[in-house]
Amino acid sequence: MDYFKILGVDRLASTEDIKKAFKKAALEHHPDRGGDAAKFKELTDAYSVLSDEEKRMEYSLMNGYGLSDDLIKNVDDMFNRTFNTDVNSGRDVTTTLSVSLADVYTGCKKNVKFVDKSVKTKCTECRGNGCEHGTKPKQCPSCMGRGRVVSVTGKTISTKDCKACAGRGKVPSVKCSVCNGTGNHFFSKEVSVKIPKHVSDGQKLKLSGMGCDGSPPGDLYIVLFIKETYGPFTRFGDDIMVTVDVPLKTALQGGNVVIKILDSVTHSITLQKCTQQGHIVKCDNLGFNGGSLYVTVNVLIPSLSDDAINEISSHL
Ligand SMILES: [Zn+2]
Ligand SMILES: [Zn+2]
Repeated sequence: MDYFKILGVDRLASTEDIKKAFKKAALEHHPDRGGDAAKFKELTDAYSVLSDEEKRMEYSLMNGYGLSDDLIKNVDDMFNRTFNTDVNSGRDVTTTLSVSLADVYTGCKKNVKFVDKSVKTKCTECRGNGCEHGTKPKQCPSCMGRGRVVSVTGKTISTKDCKACAGRGKVPSVKCSVCNGTGNHFFSKEVSVKIPKHVSDGQKLKLSGMGCDGSPPGDLYIVLFIKETYGPFTRFGDDIMVTVDVPLKTALQGGNVVIKILDSVTHSITLQKCTQQGHIVKCDNLGFNGGSLYVTVNVLIPSLSDDAINEISSHL
């Protein structure tokens, strides 16, 4: 299976092009939009390899495909990481974080908590036996204390470790409240993370040394999920769209309308006399990364008395 063909990209395509190709194909083949589930899985499999620099390098080298410029640039860095891996070094962790458009308009700080289930330590509360303080383990009811259960596969009968007691033959009568009876703690950590302003949905942040503890500590990677709407605001790439209600009087006479952009910057736009319904005002540099803010005018028609309506109509 050729992952490059599946995504329809050149073998030397940049990471950015691969991302774009995947986004386009994923929208087209998403099962929620009536696409084929098998095709969609192929796409995600291909993307998971080609979007990860280390996996892509291994895949490309194994198949003799050559490396794109942005990969070559990172080769040194990757080899250093691969060969300098110390047994005591902390693992890298990848986690996800949802932030709002308002958060990324100004930049923000967030607490991120992660659990790494591959790093276990013995529970200090129960010393690893999983029993609540002051209680004793009881015979495992699944294996009657033997620690092994009979397993039948086709015509073969064998025995295997009892899952309920992990082969110990005993289980806690009251589970340790700290480790929930597992006897282990998984490595967990909470860190305060600075989210830079103007980042995009799907962007991966690297926080050096903030992954699992170790010497040196691992890195933490955070993939950002950002909803493209926030209140009346919608993000399109680096631009922001918003529709604002304008009183008929202001639309007729002209005047200023004040907008608070994504809970942060206050901006005033000036409307000319007789501004039309649907008129769009472009405000430069108020979007993301130098993009623009587009304000669409929605003129509100007030409730008026018959006399007022007749009076106005006589001028139309
Ligand atoms: Zn058992
Ligand atoms: Zn415990």
